[in-house]
Amino acid sequence: MTDTIFALGSGPAPAGVAVIRVSGPAAAQAVCALAGLSALPEARRAVFRPLRHPASGEVLDHGLVLWLPGPGTFTGEDVAEFQGHGGVASINALLNALSDLEGCRQAEAGEFTRRAFANGRMDLTEVEGLADLIAAETEAQRRLALRLAAGEGRDRYQYWTDRLVRVLAYLEAAVDFPEDDLPESMLERNEIEIRALLGEWAQDIELGALSSGIRDGVRVAIVGAPNVGKSSLLNRLAGREAAIVSDIAGTTRDVVEVRMDLGGYLVTLADTAGLRDTRDQIEEEGVRRALRTAESADLVLFLSDDSADFDTPSHDRVQRAEGDVISVLTKADQSSHDYHAGNTVIPVSSKTGAGIGDLLRTLETACRDRLAVSAGAVAVRARHRDALSRAAEALERALSQPEAALAGEDIRLALSEMGRITGRVDVEAVLDVLFGEFCIGK
Ligand code: GDP
Repeated sequence: MTDTIFALGSGPAPAGVAVIRVSGPAAAQAVCALAGLSALPEARRAVFRPLRHPASGEVLDHGLVLWLPGPGTFTGEDVAEFQGHGGVASINALLNALSDLEGCRQAEAGEFTRRAFANGRMDLTEVEGLADLIAAETEAQRRLALRLAAGEGRDRYQYWTDRLVRVLAYLEAAVDFPEDDLPESMLERNEIEIRALLGEWAQDIELGALSSGIRDGVRVAIVGAPNVGKSSLLNRLAGREAAIVSDIAGTTRDVVEVRMDLGGYLVTLADTAGLRDTRDQIEEEGVRRALRTAESADLVLFLSDDSADFDTPSHDRVQRAEGDVISVLTKADQSSHDYHAGNTVIPVSSKTGAGIGDLLRTLETACRDRLAVSAGAVAVRARHRDALSRAAEALERALSQPEAALAGEDIRLALSEMGRITGRVDVEAVLDVLFGEFCIGK
């Protein structure tokens, strides 16, 4: 007999309303006991009741009670929900009342979701999507997480799994019934299908890798010579004093980071030490880190207060492709400035704020350009991409196997990688069903 678990599902107290969820075989009993009912209320229909302690009968709160019979619930079990007042004492009173019920205990972290997974209500990709959804801070993160939580990953991996199983079934048929001369077209079709899968996976791996910019943020490095105004710009962009600004060249020796929400995208701005030759050892280390940050960043803001600096191509200044670099002319408020900077250079003043809007818009567009293409990908976690890569290697091997039996083993490996991603491995069961349809050799 499984325990019945309960927990506060809503945010921390104090709050207007608290939602307490109960899941397990004793959920029905919890409804009747706390709501003081002799029979269960209508399923999925809220009733307003005094909520009482089951033993003493004392009224603890007044609130809504929901009876949600399994298996069509989040956990797949019987579920009860109590919506009471969100004060610390009100919540504790209800939680204590529940723990006094036979077979009921506080849930551990993630236990509701674990049960949902165990009962087949969610696969691992949906669990990951749900975790991301709860952690989502920006619009792009929310959209990505919701796609996964809603089962887009599950469906895609299932689709791939079904196709692999079909390929395997043909290969096994070739092994089991060699005398039945499988039509040549069948094996040809298999090869075409394997190549198709390889193409789809390669694309998903590539686009899925881009989506890490949505989950973890787009990394933008601010680079330029000492004193061009990197720290000042970072502060301006972040709207707060996050980096140290000073007149003495080379004060930003380490990398300062600021996270911001830019048009729904999470952006991590990194201020780096000035790029110049230096004898100071600590500063030298800072410059090394600056270059490393610029190399590993998704985008680079190259700053200079001298428009002549933009006459050389940006990849000469920073070791990056032209499209990854945004050129920014700083201190645009200074009268000494003459602008012959082209329109690919954005003049800004951290002092007056001029041009900051243009820069933010350019940055936002750059983020959208590189992230929006990942919208269809489901391999959004490194875990998925690693497994898909291993599955792809197995398919490559299968293509070069001289014997159907060996190729079949490789397909099985690819299938078990799919199973690793979704947490579901039931290849044999699916094969049984498929063979049932086949009737080869009978
Ligand atoms: P960093 O070494 O590149 O990080 O440069 P800082 O941000 O520390 O700035 C160096 C100096 O330039 C400081 O004295 C700033 O006040 C000044 N500065 C930065 N931005 C501007 C600006 O937009 N206009 C003017 N007039 N001065 C600026």
